[in-house]
Amino acid sequence: MDSPTCGHCHQIKPEAEFHRRRASPNGRQRNCKLCQRQLVNARRATAEGKQVRLAYVARNKLRIQAYNCEWNRHHAPPRAKRTSSAEKREYHRTYRLAHMDRYRGYARKYYWRNVERERERARIREYEKYHKNKAAAA
Ligand SMILES: [Zn+2]
Repeated sequence: MDSPTCGHCHQIKPEAEFHRRRASPNGRQRNCKLCQRQLVNARRATAEGKQVRLAYVARNKLRIQAYNCEWNRHHAPPRAKRTSSAEKREYHRTYRLAHMDRYRGYARKYYWRNVERERERARIREYEKYHKNKAAAA
């Protein structure tokens, strides 16, 4: 088959450089892919082209939503491997043990940053312990 000539840039290009169009005698669009893209972009940039696009989106809202939903389903990033909470607990326990010095430093810094609150909590713990023991003894 002869290589078609683009109706816009008038260059002779291989058939693959033209989008398919079943209604055409040769089954391809008149303009090459590059020219077609430029023409479509130029048209969409005009006020009228934007109106046409918005009207299309409004008319086909549900269809576009369904398409996007399907696309996202197929292109979603792979889900992270599920880990049981027991596995997580074990992981954190080993990590903590391996980095004990660092954790002690964090705890100390936290304590001195929140010293008032921590002292109040300690008072409450003492109080509860005392009254629980009293209730158990009675
Ligand atoms: Zn062209």
